Parts: sequence; structure tokens; C-alpha cells
Amino acid sequence: MFDSIIIGAGVAGSVAARELAESGRSVLVLEQRGHIGGNCYDEPDEHGILVHRYGPHIFHTKEQRAYDYLSRFTEWHAFGHEVVANVHGKLIPVPFNLNTLHMVYDEAKADELEKKLIEAFGEGSRVPVLKLREHEDPQIREIAEFVYENIFLHYTMKQWGQTPEEIDPAVTGRVPVLISHDNRYFQEPYQGMPLRGYTAMFEAMLDYPKITVLTGVDARTRISIREKEVLLDGAPFAGEVIYTGPLDELFDCRFGRLPYRSLRFDFEYFDQEDFQGHSVVNYTVSEDFTRITEFKYLTGQKAPGTTIVREYPFAYTGVAGEIPYYSIANDANQALYERYRSLLSGVPQVHLLGRLAEYKYYNIDAMVLKALELTEKIKSTREVRE
Ligand code: FAD
Ligand code: UDP
Repeated sequence: MFDSIIIGAGVAGSVAARELAESGRSVLVLEQRGHIGGNCYDEPDEHGILVHRYGPHIFHTKEQRAYDYLSRFTEWHAFGHEVVANVHGKLIPVPFNLNTLHMVYDEAKADELEKKLIEAFGEGSRVPVLKLREHEDPQIREIAEFVYENIFLHYTMKQWGQTPEEIDPAVTGRVPVLISHDNRYFQEPYQGMPLRGYTAMFEAMLDYPKITVLTGVDARTRISIREKEVLLDGAPFAGEVIYTGPLDELFDCRFGRLPYRSLRFDFEYFDQEDFQGHSVVNYTVSEDFTRITEFKYLTGQKAPGTTIVREYPFAYTGVAGEIPYYSIANDANQALYERYRSLLSGVPQVHLLGRLAEYKYYNIDAMVLKALELTEKIKSTREVRE
């Protein structure tokens, strides 16, 4: 009946489904949650405020192809996302930039340090805090210490349970010190929110005659992957299977669980126009939660009330109801991941795609591009069944 099966209806699965369906394949999408969209899912809460159930998602990219692809399915509410950190009650722009510098040092010192930073790195450059800490100039190291202590250390301890030095440097490198006066969190040319929300965008993507989406179905109840074959409802299935869930769970965690960080989201509604005046406030030196998002400021929604969400990180254990959000990049975890991946060597028709299945820290745009790349490869190597 179906040419292709896709497990998971997040960004990865939805883009892949649409691409394979447009190539003439009949595609079955199995999603275990009661809705599509994966972690990008949004919906109005009981007060009518559009909220992101799995944390704030801001689309940002420098890749025209990713932007153009999603633009087939949505218009945009374009805006430059800004974040502030609450440091002992004072709100300062994050990433730390030259404006932040002028807020934390007196004028003469900030002017001197600004000149130094521009001379050392060049205007417009992006310097990871861990690199800044190694600089030969003691005054630059002093700035680095300020940034490390007030922006990175405590937030990272909350988010990862480890210090910035203990985690993959690429993670803290996502939020470098900016040698510019740009207060935006991202510097890419395309940024904003799908005008009618992410869920509507994915609905449009999956609304195609050759796509069948079944929600509330754990694919493991329908599909089994054997050493050399795939079974759908007990019968051999020869088409391609794209899996976007956690790889260990596909094999009942037989070598032990792949470690992930998870989050608890605590939503709160206020019967008032405004809560914090900003879309996102990071709590970088205090509190157990990492940040508070006020959704109206992301979506541009006008409403008399407002809804916020606080994020509390914790170590994923795999108990029912927990969701694995962040893979933890290190050599031991990668080795465990590879061990699981080797179990698929006899079934080349099964492809791993996505943040969970590839055990990688992807943003939405990267996920769109990876899905396009994989489906292009599939289309060029496998014919559609007649
Ligand atoms: P997912 O969205 O996780 O989708 C995988 C789907 O597979 C899920 O719906 C899951 O239920 C389903 N599934 C798993 N196992 C099975 C099974 N056995 N059977 C059936 N279905 C299954 N990116 C940005 O670009 N900008 C942001 O601002 C941003 N903010 C983020 C904030 C948070 C808190 C988090 C966690 C991520 C954020 N991201 C952001 C990253 C973004 O969420 C990911 O890039 C994107 O969701 C990855 O899509 P995916 O399809 O790989 O995974
Ligand atoms: N980070 C931090 N303080 C901040 C913002 C980020 O310490 O105010 C660190 C933290 O380790 C975080 C990483 O930088 O996990 C990457 O931040 P980003 O905002 O990119 O993470 P996301 O929420 O998008 O996953």
C-alpha cells in the first residue's frame, strides 16, 4: 500500500514526507504524540494565547533554501529576536555585545575596552567565551571572566548539570560574545515566526493527497526492524523507512540508554497586558529555571492577558511522560550511538534523520536542509514503485 514510512511528524519527518510524496510515493507518517509538529508544536492555551508547548521556537537562518522551503507553507511574522539576562536584577542584552559592555562598565573603561576588543578581533566578529578567556591581554580576560561568571556558568550548570568547560564547546559557542552593537540573539538575515504558527505550517506541509498521517501511534507497535528486513504489521516492507525518534528506543535500549537532557515547562497565565516586557529573559545567576518566555512578544499576538513559560532542566531518565530534548555530545555517548547505529547495517532502506535519530543539536533550518538532502539521495537511488 505505502512506498515509504516516516516515523515522527516533527520538522524532519514532515519535510521528508512532503518531498517523498511529491516524487510520487505514497507515504505513511506515524507519530506517537496526539499531534504533528514535534517540538515546534504550538496551540492556543485556554486563554487564547498561542503558546509553544515544548519551549520557545524562533526560526532563524542564513540559508535562503531553508527559508524558501518553509515559505511554501507559511507567511512570516518577521522580527529580530532579542534576549536579555537578569543579572542580580539588572537586565542586560545577551549575547554579551558592545552595548552590554557599556552597561556593565563605566563610560571611560567601556570605551577603552571596546577599542581593545575591536582591535583584537575586528568589528562584527563573534568570539566564543571560552576563547576569550584564553586571551593574552589581562583586560580582555577580565571581560571574559565577567561574561563567564554572570552569563554562562550558572545557566549552563542548570541546563546541562555541567560547567561550560565540561560540555562540548560548540554548545556555548552558539552564543558568542559579539563585537558589535547588535542586540539581536541571532544575526542571520531570515528570522521570525510562521504567521499563523508552526502547527498550521506543518499542517499545510502534510496536507497532500499521497500523505497519510496517523497520530497517537507508536511506530514500534506497527514496525519491527530485524537484522536484514523490515516488517510492517508483520509483513515484509521493502520501501524506505525514515526514523526520526531516539535510536536507542528503536532497539529497546538493549545497550543502555543514550543520555539526554530534558525540560519541564511550567506555564502561567496573567490577567494583565504584560509580564516582563521581553520575549525571553534568561536567569543567568539565580533561580532554578533557565529562562522565562512571554509568548506575545514572540508571536506579535495582541490580547488583554499574557502567558509565560519557565523552563526547568533535568536529566532524562526514560520514565513515561519524559521527553528527550537535548543530546549530550561527548565521545562515550557518540560511541554508544554508533553501537546502536551498527544494528542497522543490514537494512540500508532504514534512514536516521533528525535531532533525536542523529543524536545532534540541530536547529530547525538545519533540519529542513538535512531532510531535503536525504530525500534527494533517496529519490536519486530508488525508483518509485509502479
Ligand atoms: P522532533 O521535533 O523531536 O520530532 C520527532 C518526532 O518523532 C516527535 O514528534 C516524536 O513524538 C516522534 N517519535 C519519536 N519516536 C516515535 C515512535 N516510536 N513512533 C512515532 N513517533 C515517534 N530550533 C530553532 O531553529 N529555533 C529555536 O528557537 C529552537 N528552540 C528550541 C527550544 C527547545 C526547548 C528545544 C528542545 C529545541 C529547540 N529548537 C530550536 C530545535 C528544534 O526543536 C529542532 O531542530 C526540531 O524540532 C527537530 O525536529 P525533529 O523532527 O528532528 O525532532
Ligand atoms: N548559555 C548560557 N547563558 C545564556 C545563554 C546560553 O550559559 O544566557 C549557554 C548554555 O550552555 C546553553 C548554550 O549556551 O545551553 C546554548 O544556548 P542556546 O540559546 O543556543 O540554546 P537553545 O536554548 O537554543 O538550545
